[in-house]
Order: sequence, then C-alpha cells, then structure tokens
Amino acid sequence: MGKEQLLNFINGSWQRSSAAEYLDVENPATAEILAQVPLSPGAEVDQAVQVAANAFVEWRQTPVLDRVQYLFKFKQLLEDNLDDLAKIITNECGKTYNESVGEIRRGIENVETACGTPTLMQGYNNEDIASGIDEMMIRQPLGVVAAITPFNFPGMIPLWFLPYAIATGNCFILKPSEKVPLSTAKLFSMLEQTGLPNGVVQLVNGGKEAVDALLDHPTVRAISFVGSTPIAKYVYSRATANGKRAQCQGGAKNPVVIMPDADMETTIKIMADSAFGCAGQRCLAASVAITVGDAKNIFTEGIADAASSRKVGYGLNDGVQMGSVIDSRSQERITGLIGAGAQEGANVLVDGRNKQVDGFENGYFVYPTILDGVDPQSDIAKTEIFGPVLSLMHADTVEQAIDMVNDRVYGNMACLFTSNGAVARQFRYSVKAGNVGINIGVAAPMAMFPFSGWRDSFFGDLHGQGRHGIEFFTETKVVIERWPKEWSRKF
Ligand code: NAD
Repeated sequence: MGKEQLLNFINGSWQRSSAAEYLDVENPATAEILAQVPLSPGAEVDQAVQVAANAFVEWRQTPVLDRVQYLFKFKQLLEDNLDDLAKIITNECGKTYNESVGEIRRGIENVETACGTPTLMQGYNNEDIASGIDEMMIRQPLGVVAAITPFNFPGMIPLWFLPYAIATGNCFILKPSEKVPLSTAKLFSMLEQTGLPNGVVQLVNGGKEAVDALLDHPTVRAISFVGSTPIAKYVYSRATANGKRAQCQGGAKNPVVIMPDADMETTIKIMADSAFGCAGQRCLAASVAITVGDAKNIFTEGIADAASSRKVGYGLNDGVQMGSVIDSRSQERITGLIGAGAQEGANVLVDGRNKQVDGFENGYFVYPTILDGVDPQSDIAKTEIFGPVLSLMHADTVEQAIDMVNDRVYGNMACLFTSNGAVARQFRYSVKAGNVGINIGVAAPMAMFPFSGWRDSFFGDLHGQGRHGIEFFTETKVVIERWPKEWSRKF
C-alpha cells in the first residue's frame, strides 16, 4: 500500500493537491518512509491567496479581543497535544524527544505573547497637538501575509509569525519545509479545532514553485522567511522587488569566546549542549569555540571528553542525548566538510564520521566531532556546517578574540564565558552579532524580544517575535483631526 499523501489546508478544509510530484517524508533515524508531501503548483497558492483575501474583509473587523480568543484556545490545544506533537517532530526531524518538547515550549511562548496583542498593537495620540487639533497613530493589518519555514524547528518557527499575524488582523499562509510536513499538519489540525474562520490560516505544502508563487503574487503583502542564507537573500530580493515587506532570517556560524576565568566545568557542559544539541542543526548552535590564553588546554580536553561520551541514537529512546541529522544529503555534506577541514590543516580531534547506532543502521547519524587548531582564515572556519561539529580556535587576548568574532559574514549569535563583568561589557559592546549570550550557550531571545540576527544572518528591518512581529504585520496610519464647535450641526 502506498504511503499517506499529505493534504493542504485551504479555506477551512483539508484538500488533496493536484501536484504532479510528491516527495517522500522520511524518519531520518530509520530511513522509513512516513508519508508523501505534494509539491503544490502555483495555482494552489493562488487559490489560498484569493480565499485569504476574502476572509480578510471580516477578519480585520473582528475585534482584537475576539481574535486573540482563538490563540488562547490554540495555546491550550498545544499543551494538550504536546506529547503527540513532540513525537511527530522527533520522528520526522531526528532530534530527541526532550528537544522536541523544548521547541514546542518556545512556540507556545509566542502564542502567549501574541495573546497580548490588544495592548501591543495600540497606537498613540496627542490631544491639542496644535490648537483644537488632535493627532493619533493607529495600526492596521496588512491583509494577506505568508511565511516560508525551514526543517529544523517545525513546531516552533511557524509560531514566530502566525500568532502575531492573525492577532493583528491579517490572514496567514504557511509554506513549511517539505522535509517536515507532518508536524505542520498537526499544528494545523489544532488550529482547525480552535474554530478560526475559514481562510484566516492556510497551509500549502510545496517547494520552489509554491514559494515563487507567494513571492510574485500581487495580493500577498508580506513575506517572513527562515532558512539558509542563499535562499534568504533570494527570497528577500524577489519579495522586495515585488513591493512586499520581507523579513528573512538566514544561516549562521556562531562563535563563542571562552576566557580563562570562566567556570570551566559549567562552560564545557553548556558548550557541549550548544554545539551538539539538535545534532548541531540549530541556527544558534555554537559552531566555533575561541579559547583565550590559558583556557585552551582545559577547555579542549573537557569538550573532547563531552563530545566522545555523548549518547547518540533514536530520539524517542531513553537516555539518548543526540539524534540523527535530517537526511542522507546532510549526512554526506557534513562528513564531506569535516574532511575538507582536515585537508585545510585542522586536526580531527574527535571524529564522528562513519559510525553507526546499533539497531538503526539505516539512520543518518553523524556523531559529535571536534576540529582542533582551525585556521581562522580557512574556508571551514567560515562555512556553516549545520551539523554536530565544533571548530576550536585560539586567541591570546580578548581583543584578538573579538576581532575573530567580527571577521565573518554571519551575525546571528556571539557568546562569551567569563566571570569578569568588564570583559563581558566590552564583548557585548563590540561584537557584530544581534543575539548575544554572556555565560549562555544558545542565546535564543524569548518571545517578547526580537530574534535579532545581523549581517548575512538576516535581511530586512523588523525581526520575528514580540513587538517587532506586531510592527511587521501592521502599517501605521496617522490621523490629524480638527472638529471646530461652530461646524457642528445644531439639532
Ligand atoms: P533552506 O533554505 O533549504 O529551506 C528553507 C525554506 O526555503 C524551505 O521551506 C524550502 O522549501 C524553501 N526553499 C529551498 N530552496 C528554495 C529555492 N531555491 N527557492 C525557493 N524556496 C526554496 O533551509 P533548511 O535546510 O530547511 O534550514 C536550514 C537553514 O536554516 C540553515 O542555514 C539554518 O542556519 C537556517 N536557520 C536560520 C534560522 C534563523 O533564525 N536565522 C533559524 C532556523 C534555521
């Protein structure tokens, strides 16, 4: 029997796509085919956009207090379905069960934050800005907006955008990653249960054709994107050339500086979690550790132990600390890059290539890997690996380390481990990255703060989450009013 062919959610119902091509959705720990996902044609995007545009007429007039009631219901459904959703994420994404629960928690946080939209979307005003003249700024929704999301956080990243978009009165279309469509289908089955009016949220599965149809559609007002830097650049240029607002989050290569005065035991533990958590497939994973002065030997020894002893396996099995990477192409790419790093002179201190998990011999596993003595000017020092590989570099002073942090095209995250407040301030002040961690390994902003990538990690102005989300999905209208008494009709 053929595998289940996944449906799109358009106009409040689950619809079969007319796609000519379907892709297999795999469990990367077992290589088992879980389902098939359609590469929906542009015409289906067009249908969703038309439906959204019609739904917008009433949705924008629905009071914001009523709009957020659906989000309160959604939050409860996410809590009630947390276990099911976490298992789906683990099975199609490869990460551990605890990591799946963690990402859903961060998603729920965004739903909760967007429940505050009645306050967050308020404008401001002045009475008598000139004599007898009042002025006010109000925020209005844009209309039809869309998001295109990556494979690595299917239970969280759509929620960086969807709750804010609909709470502010927009109608929202999601084109999720074709690698993890089952998690999104589960999210949309919960959204369906909230009773949201038809057309307010819609799901169109697909690949490039669906993305291009969204980017070119004249009725789509804004595009939110998260994925790799080359595609983020492409989406940003095409969306903005078509007159749309765009916020496009890209790739990363995150440096972490370790000072000799850091609490080394805690630092090593946090660094191992950051570099190898989610098998390194996290845009905020530590991927370069820069030790300063005497930190070098003790950190190198400790992180090598932590890497070698990490338990790798199927994410639903007890005690597993790291799961598989997403697919065979990623596995080949990552192992190829480890080899390329070695050819450039790095020492493969812990080698995660060519290892198998007992009972999961078909799975796409790469074990934790440490590249020591990486030349800061080498290609591997600057290339996003997006796998469980930590590169080690060394600096003599904090100034030199900060220069190494800043000598790269990405600016998603930079972290520092120290017990010295002055050094912490110097670091925070100088680094060219938008998410900074001091004694933190994954500096992921909470939902009330913008997810602030810089440089080639972000294209746009307003970031995802929190107040930026509210601003991104609304446009400001400024009204100046004069109502002289003598003009009033007398009754
Ligand atoms: P990706 O760029 O391959 O895909 C992202 C989305 O773009 C998917 O929905 C995909 O279908 C679509 N897409 C892919 N190729 C396309 C093309 N040629 N034209 C139009 N659309 C296309 O990214 P991925 O492999 O799914 O995710 C991993 C990447 O995402 C990493 O680089 C990671 O750093 C980045 N990421 C960034 C953040 C952040 O917040 N900055 C968060 C998570 C992931």
